[in-house]
Amino acid sequence: MRHVRERFLPASLVAIVASTLAACGGQKDSTTPPDAAALRLYVFDCGTLKADPARFRLKPDEVATTDLSVPCFLVVHPRGKLMWDPGAVPDAAWTPTGGPVTYHLALPDGSERDLSLRKQLGTQLAEVGYAPKDIEYVAFSHYHYDHTANANAFAGATWLARPAERDAMFADKPPGVVQPDYYAALKTSKTVMINDDEYDAFGDGSVILKLAPGHTPGHQVLYLRLPRTGGVVLSGDLYHFPESRVLKRVTIFDFDQSLTPVSRGLIEAFLTKTGAQLWIQHDAIGNSRLKKAPDYYE
Ligand SMILES: [Zn+2]
Repeated sequence: MRHVRERFLPASLVAIVASTLAACGGQKDSTTPPDAAALRLYVFDCGTLKADPARFRLKPDEVATTDLSVPCFLVVHPRGKLMWDPGAVPDAAWTPTGGPVTYHLALPDGSERDLSLRKQLGTQLAEVGYAPKDIEYVAFSHYHYDHTANANAFAGATWLARPAERDAMFADKPPGVVQPDYYAALKTSKTVMINDDEYDAFGDGSVILKLAPGHTPGHQVLYLRLPRTGGVVLSGDLYHFPESRVLKRVTIFDFDQSLTPVSRGLIEAFLTKTGAQLWIQHDAIGNSRLKKAPDYYE
């Protein structure tokens, strides 16, 4: 494991950096590390969430759909497999029927959500040849319930954790949009505490967790350098809708609403610099166009 040192800049410098990058036309980084030649990314369908656009400071007529996709991702690297954001509802909490299953969720803060679920994560993992115990690493973009649901299934993996996230998850009174039961088993998991802004998961620059705080204190995105697809950034909840990106809207429930735009500016500059694609995880229309497991990106 190797840390890449790239400190986040003060907000005042963000605009300067962004404009400098724009002036340079960006510097494309298209080479793939040789060790990552066999890198694969699987996209699983972990459901669809019915959203209230007002929570995202968007009006109903400003979004193409109010559905939010909930994908789960598996990164397969020659040095290990990494589960990213294992879903919104634990497999054990619902029974598949072969068709869409409606699931109603009551959160600790008193709010409620409706989801549509089709196939359990464990089944989708099995279809590509793995059981949860085969997965060596687990990481979350952040601690919200819809990114941690099947975490307990990966308690035998090494958790790549941001201390600010872990502290909130195991606080006496965790934030209202978490479901502590979903990840309770991780408390005793082998854990790598990530203190740097970037963490190079396999030491070859092909799978990098990048700090992008604001939505939660230690929110992060996942940068992949895939040999054929090229660079992809899995957004976490940096944005929820593509319209959030275009209209520059921050949710009403972001932990630090002034920090989210700073993180967005830095990630946008990174996208410009590297030429990587941004996959907004909750973008239902964008997600519908992605290849789903057992197919994969390489
Ligand atoms: Zn989310």
